[in-house]
Amino acid sequence: LLDASLSRIRETDDRIGAFLKLDEEGARKRAERIDEGDEDPGLLAGLPVGIKDNISTKALSTTAGSRILGDYAPLYDATVMEKLEHSRANMVGKTNMDEFGMGSSNENSGFHPVRNPWDFDRVPGGSSGGSAAAVAAGQVSFALGSDTGGSIRQPAAFCGVVGMKPTYSRVSRFGLVAFASSLDQIGPLTRNVEDAAVVMQSIAGFDAKDSTSADVEVPDYLSALNGEVKGLKVAVPREMMGEGVDAGVREKIRQALKVLEDLGAVVEEVSLPHSEYAVATYYLLAPAEASSNLARYDGVRYGARVEGDNLVDMYNRTRSSGFGPEVKRRIMLGTYALSSGYYDAYYLKAQKVRTLIRRDYEEIFQSYDVVVGPTAPTTAFRIGEKTEDPLTMYLNDICTIPVSLAGLPAVSVPCGLSDGLPVGLQIIGKPFDESGVLKVAHAYE
Ligand code: GLN
Repeated sequence: LLDASLSRIRETDDRIGAFLKLDEEGARKRAERIDEGDEDPGLLAGLPVGIKDNISTKALSTTAGSRILGDYAPLYDATVMEKLEHSRANMVGKTNMDEFGMGSSNENSGFHPVRNPWDFDRVPGGSSGGSAAAVAAGQVSFALGSDTGGSIRQPAAFCGVVGMKPTYSRVSRFGLVAFASSLDQIGPLTRNVEDAAVVMQSIAGFDAKDSTSADVEVPDYLSALNGEVKGLKVAVPREMMGEGVDAGVREKIRQALKVLEDLGAVVEEVSLPHSEYAVATYYLLAPAEASSNLARYDGVRYGARVEGDNLVDMYNRTRSSGFGPEVKRRIMLGTYALSSGYYDAYYLKAQKVRTLIRRDYEEIFQSYDVVVGPTAPTTAFRIGEKTEDPLTMYLNDICTIPVSLAGLPAVSVPCGLSDGLPVGLQIIGKPFDESGVLKVAHAYE
């Protein structure tokens, strides 16, 4: 398996750019240990995995796609890495990403963009574009990504793979380079729903090292994949099927809903009245949290430093040269939203709208089991198509962001092609009901 993975990476990655670095030697050692008859073969024994480069790994440097982290070498593994190690998955390398997770196309990587394996002139989505492309190109058995506003689900949709964002607090964030701490979640990118269930089984669960980690029992995800969707109530928000969503995407979602109906599910239209404010809310809250989280990159504690005439000059030079343009834009937006005199008007207001968005979902989940719609309003767009206009790039997250603000679990599962490019069906569940989400995805698939 490892040989197949490494040779596939060698054959394809100069065109795709999914990996930032490989750990061939370490991976071979781990594979040998399994070959020699490991006593506990583990749930994921020997499966080659790509790890998004914002997840701390002792074996390989961790840059979060940013030049400012240079060749920063973490002194510890993220909790998810310990869990994967326990399941005997085999990390082959670290995957490319938008700098600090800020982006929807991977064009904001501090190193090089990733290309979509379906069409090299198109983006793979972001920010976990390297992870999604690696799975789609058959370079690894599965990958881990992180999702703050859609960064697992949207690249999964663009690359035609399965991507799951767990409930906020379901998977430990210990060792994940922070972007927006109240939204960030690690999750799997896989070839099918069954694989997503198995990887979730390995990485989910309480962790005392993450103060927001939830002490909620992890069920057996595989046994939930029983195909029983008869009578299940599926809500389709009209806001996710209207204007702004490409006709070709809408058509594929309609066909997928028909499949669920044929399986016995009851599909009904509902409304999420506050979702139209979600993108604006997110782009206040996420940059606010980011501006605070990114204050630590000062040339003293981590990574790269550019010397200056004095301390403040050194800070300025380090941050000016280390961060890319999108990261700087977010730091300025966030600092503005948090500044005295504006805090109540922007940050506090956005927090209140976030509560309203969460309540919309709570109300729907009183009468429905899952909420279903598209993962993204379009298929993969062309490289360079949206780089000039950050606002149209932000709008690509319109279907995923409300779910992130509400902290809910959601999966993107491939539902066919529109003009030859993959479309993703998004299935959203109640808090901690990853099983319900995976069950519906599996029945559909
Ligand atoms: N595209 C969104 C952003 O740029 C979401 C990114 C993410 O989920 N990490 O913030």
